[in-house]
Amino acid sequence: MTNYLFPPHDPVSLPIIGQPERFPVRRIYCIGRNYADHVKEMGGDAARSEPIFFTKAAETIVQSGQDIPFPPNTSDLHYEVELVVAIGPDRSVFGFGVGIDLTRRDLQSAAKKKGGPWARAKNFNRSAPCSALTPADQVDVSKAHIVLRKNGDIVQHGALADMIWSVDEIIERLKQDMDLQAGDLIYTGTPAGVGPVNVGDELSGGIEGLQRITVRFI
Ligand code: MN
Repeated sequence: MTNYLFPPHDPVSLPIIGQPERFPVRRIYCIGRNYADHVKEMGGDAARSEPIFFTKAAETIVQSGQDIPFPPNTSDLHYEVELVVAIGPDRSVFGFGVGIDLTRRDLQSAAKKKGGPWARAKNFNRSAPCSALTPADQVDVSKAHIVLRKNGDIVQHGALADMIWSVDEIIERLKQDMDLQAGDLIYTGTPAGVGPVNVGDELSGGIEGLQRITVRFI
């Protein structure tokens, strides 16, 4: 047995639909600019170019039903609803969830202007809400739609088939840089309609066949 200076932390984990075990989260990868209509609304060129990847710490996961204290150092917190892919023990797709890539848009805009990294805009406490996971053999998401409601009103809507980089292509690209491992999650990008969220708002994201992610800001 290795002697550690302090006990290693228990992993963050997510429930799995239909089985008692929980899914231990290892790393979170995110892809940016993966729906043409969202690229356009951000003022970008929707032509297919190299995918943009960034990461969040596993500890940024928030489970459905939890309240999120409004984060500091921003006056423009944005929602981005996304399909989440979960990598399983054989290093292939184990299952899917619905996630929200919370973004401090003002910090991201400032970073873009300076040509600096997006890390502070994307990777902060409670910035990665994610639903319970549904095993891939129980659902076909290829033709599914993704919807986000804010206080009951639809604010984002898209078809997963409209992703510029498919799930398989994203995994192929990621594998060139990092050995994907069991427990890794991939947030696959957001369709158009991103916008601000404030204290008191409730966000609820859904994809046909998957569990919802619902969080409230306090
Ligand atoms: Mn995103």
